[in-house]
Amino acid sequence: MGEYLDRGLHEECGVFGVYRQPDAAHLTYFGLHALQHRGQEGAGIATADGKTVHCHKGKGLLTEVFHSSDLDELKGKNAIGHVRYGTAGGGELANVQPIVARRANCGALAVAHNGQIVNAAELRQELEDKGSIFWGTSDSEIILHLLQGQQGPLLEKIKKACRRLDGAFAFLILTEKNLYAIRDKSGLRPLSLAKQGDGWCVSSESCAFDIVGAQLVRDIQPGEIVKLSADGIESYFYTDETEKNLCAMEYIYFSRPDSVLEGQNVHGVRRECGRLLAQEDLEHLFKADIVVGVPDSSLSAAAGYSEAIGLPNEMGLIKNRYVGRTFIQPTQAQRDLGVKLKLSANVPVVRGKRVVLVDDSIVRGTTSKRIVALLRQAGATEVHLRIAAPPIKYPCFYGVDMSTRAELASASLEPDILAKVLGADSLRFMSIEDLKQACGNTGLCTACFSGEYVTPLYGHKV
Ligand code: SF4
Repeated sequence: MGEYLDRGLHEECGVFGVYRQPDAAHLTYFGLHALQHRGQEGAGIATADGKTVHCHKGKGLLTEVFHSSDLDELKGKNAIGHVRYGTAGGGELANVQPIVARRANCGALAVAHNGQIVNAAELRQELEDKGSIFWGTSDSEIILHLLQGQQGPLLEKIKKACRRLDGAFAFLILTEKNLYAIRDKSGLRPLSLAKQGDGWCVSSESCAFDIVGAQLVRDIQPGEIVKLSADGIESYFYTDETEKNLCAMEYIYFSRPDSVLEGQNVHGVRRECGRLLAQEDLEHLFKADIVVGVPDSSLSAAAGYSEAIGLPNEMGLIKNRYVGRTFIQPTQAQRDLGVKLKLSANVPVVRGKRVVLVDDSIVRGTTSKRIVALLRQAGATEVHLRIAAPPIKYPCFYGVDMSTRAELASASLEPDILAKVLGADSLRFMSIEDLKQACGNTGLCTACFSGEYVTPLYGHKV
């Protein structure tokens, strides 16, 4: 994640939309700013003025893609926007969203998508066999082609198209007059609705509502299509076979701590994860001096762990907030340098101390190893690694750029062996049951921990 350290964990995207608001493009720009942690490789905004759809997009951060004059040219009271981390499809401009289509039978249409369609390859082949021409390689184009191939009013076309899709998707569709917000039937990727004056906002995360002064109303439900039009707000479902399975990594890692998902504040969930993680150490009369959280995403869990275990929560690691996007540097040497630039040990705090290092995930293990080494070099006498999540053992096919099994440290190494590999004195993870409890038992995907995927996987190999 861009604002965090590179663990080899990247979300694909964030989406934000505005309906019936003056200055829709500017509001969307600010909303996307709050979602920039979900993707830094590309950004775009499409607006609708009742007659047509305008769009501006490009590669890079929002501040690199948009200048004030670009926003001024995006006319209209309705808008959708997107920030992209490009896994499926690669980083070329054709894959930057929103994607706009102008066809005689549909009018102008813009689509922005977060997630990953598991049966994308099969659908793409079928569409190409029928004559569809794709100009990029992202999953998001598939929905546009599916819409073109359906008969009837747009709402019915959307329902029919969504029934063909398997996997994780949160779509925003903008027409000349209306905005549709759609969530997959498993609710894998988050999507929330907010009220703003006479209009509405939709967002991958509620933290973006706070920036633009909108009030969170609710999560869009699995399988739901919310239509925003001159008639107001309408809710439809494209299927009644729905089940809530929100990505657990949204709580653990991706979402901002000030977001609310399924009624749960993300900081609160992480803090509870830390508290539950401490229970076993409490039972075994574990001895240490201080608790140190890895900034930023593990600070909430470290606070919960420290409260429960009764040890001071210290700032033993300092993040340099002004380092650029080192995580997209392609070589290992560049990534190594990136971690050193991003994180320093606070030597007077950790020297001579037995440290409990609280982190939120181990993917390949390379980052954890470097952080343990940083603390030892700074004089920590012991480093006990505590992970406020279960071990990641399986790849994700729902929009998180997770390594193959062979690259996942916990897929082949038990915690005691992994502790030695990482240079830690001990290592413990959370159980899946405790994670579900911390998340309020609201319905969670835990496939990367358990291997129990919530959809068919088609040709994907675990
Ligand atoms: S497999 Fe893991 S990362 Fe992927 S959606 Fe499920 S919980 Fe999230």
